[in-house]
Amino acid sequence: MSQTTSLQRLIQHQQQLSQCTLCPDMIAPVIVGEPSTSAVMSVGQAPGIHEGKVQRPFGWTAGKTLFQWFESIGVDEKNYRQQVYMAAVCRCFPGKNLKGSGDRIPNKQEIKTCSRWLQQEYQIIQPQLIIPIGKLAIAQYLEFKLLVNVVGKQHSVQRGEISVDIIPLPHPSGLSTWFRKAPGKTLLQDALRLIQQHPAWKKAF
Ligand code: SF4
Repeated sequence: MSQTTSLQRLIQHQQQLSQCTLCPDMIAPVIVGEPSTSAVMSVGQAPGIHEGKVQRPFGWTAGKTLFQWFESIGVDEKNYRQQVYMAAVCRCFPGKNLKGSGDRIPNKQEIKTCSRWLQQEYQIIQPQLIIPIGKLAIAQYLEFKLLVNVVGKQHSVQRGEISVDIIPLPHPSGLSTWFRKAPGKTLLQDALRLIQQHPAWKKAF
């Protein structure tokens, strides 16, 4: 399939995704990234309250930290957004966590409902490298108890007939201290180095 056709399919897919209202407790708008068909995808958890204003994933505080990480391996935000398809486990704002701090974590049904979009994106993009960001995203690919068991390593998973490399990152939330102190700080650097060395990343940049 030609690049143009994949890109057209992805644009069409995003038009349908943008109209989605399947989850009654999710708050519009649907947030989608730029329609890149490079073989690298990142998968976040769900947009926060501010992403709706800027209409792009990781468009607020956590994004600033995330893009500093990618800057440290030579890719700036603009370039990243153009080359990496930025998906998420859920594409709408789940609302605030009424029992604690931060945002509500999407429930199992919402994750299942929204996974149809992710599945379609795998088929269109056929990624060779997926970068899940944060525990909820990582859990869609890997079974784990602690972030220290999975961050800083490259994993391989089967998606249908395709084998995909997974290099997880911690969530860059301002509420998290995991990546600011040992051992998270070192494991984050290990993960970024693995991303930088991955053939699909090198091809994209
Ligand atoms: S979270 Fe996903 S499935 Fe649910 S309404 Fe938003 S786009 Fe649709």
